[in-house]
Amino acid sequence: MERLERFRTLVKELKAYQYVMNVIGWDSETEAPRGAFGPRAEVMGIIGGEIFKRSTSQEYQDVVNGLYRDIASLDADTAKEIRRAKKALDKIVTIPEADFVGYQRLLTLAQPAWEDAKAKNDWAGFKPFLADIIEMNKKFVGYYGLPGEPYDILLDEFEEGMSMKAYDKFFNALKKDLVPFVKKILAVKNDRRDPFAEAKFPIDNQQIFSNYLLTVMKFDRSRGLLKKSVHPFTWNTSPADVRLTTRYSPDALFGSVFSTIHELGHATYEQQIDPIFDATLLSSGTTMGIHESQSRMYENMFGRSRPFWQKHLSELKRLFPTQLKGATVDDVVFAANKVEASYIRTEADELTYPLHIMLRYDIERMLFSGKLTVDELPAKWNELMKSYLGIVPPTDSEGVLQDVHWSSGLIGYFPTYALGTAYAAQIYHAMQKELDIDKLLRAGDMGPINAWLKDKIHRFGGSKSPEQIMLDVTGEPFDPHYYIDYLKKKYTALYLS
Ligand SMILES: [Zn+2]
Repeated sequence: MERLERFRTLVKELKAYQYVMNVIGWDSETEAPRGAFGPRAEVMGIIGGEIFKRSTSQEYQDVVNGLYRDIASLDADTAKEIRRAKKALDKIVTIPEADFVGYQRLLTLAQPAWEDAKAKNDWAGFKPFLADIIEMNKKFVGYYGLPGEPYDILLDEFEEGMSMKAYDKFFNALKKDLVPFVKKILAVKNDRRDPFAEAKFPIDNQQIFSNYLLTVMKFDRSRGLLKKSVHPFTWNTSPADVRLTTRYSPDALFGSVFSTIHELGHATYEQQIDPIFDATLLSSGTTMGIHESQSRMYENMFGRSRPFWQKHLSELKRLFPTQLKGATVDDVVFAANKVEASYIRTEADELTYPLHIMLRYDIERMLFSGKLTVDELPAKWNELMKSYLGIVPPTDSEGVLQDVHWSSGLIGYFPTYALGTAYAAQIYHAMQKELDIDKLLRAGDMGPINAWLKDKIHRFGGSKSPEQIMLDVTGEPFDPHYYIDYLKKKYTALYLS
């Protein structure tokens, strides 16, 4: 089919430009000297403009629309790919160029404004930018002309198939069951010794341990590598080139350990995607939520578990013999799962984390339904913190100004973080029926676990929706009770027994 061949060529060219953009992005975060910022911004502007031009060109539109008309004649994976391309295209072509350019400019200004405001605890300095970002998002959704509430359209953009109705069900379950449980755990007095927070841990040896983790988690170094960056992330262009970063601080050994394990979850997903998707638009993990399910399963369910440390604590002690003298598996399990009411989402433990997300979801939902104005935002933030976690941040920097997301235009993104862990709990439950996970972790044998994840989830890349994955892997639709059960069981054992 001639049109399909043309589509393949256009996608191939588009991906080549994207590849250049990605390599520059990787370089920016890991290696580039500060002096490179100016010239690099210009190059990125040119390449980014070219990507936009190509992905909205008349020819690309004709080819995608033509294939969409004949979708019944395509194989299932190609049909899925065309549906995705069409969905993205239908949105972007409705936006007038002046608004598109204006929005890019707004984001460029909002970023440093947010950084300043956060540094100076100056909410008023960021407020007008946030108000404009929200207005622009409402305007764009209006252009799309799709059925449904504006916030639903944004939620679906980050997690295909999700809506306020589905998230309300999820978060209401958390509100009902998890909030009172967290209060109970927070009331338990905890004066256990934490050798992992007391000492200084030289970065050289933290690096050695992170590399050890790559080896024991069976990361394929011939197709990937590890570097450091300020904010850890995973980068990929194909299963043959998957890179991850972690962060190091002498005061925070767990900062590097669990960032590395978390990113290894993302990276293993990308490495295990079937290369048949390389030349397609389905060559990456399917959604943010499913991606996060893999990283959080690695981090929380494997990395923070007792069997994992029964195997690996000796290596950590070998690298830090004085700091960890006398530390036991119990010590590490307890320290790695310490529950505290805290202000900052990115530093929150596994149990309180979803409440931070719930707060952001509540706020975004109210902002979009008109129930909350930007003026009222800091007060609402503090009110919800008090209600969910029993604490009120002393400054806006530690409250409403803490996250980078809104200044980057990411609205509707936060809920995928909590959803990911909830997916992970249900997937883990299914995996347990087929594998003795504890035994494998205790033996340090990640092979069968990675193979299971590859077979059930990873190899399909973007060709399956989250609903389909959950149904195929667990035999039922997504159900938040697995997540709540998992948390209650784990933290009851740690704190209440
Ligand atoms: Zn992640």
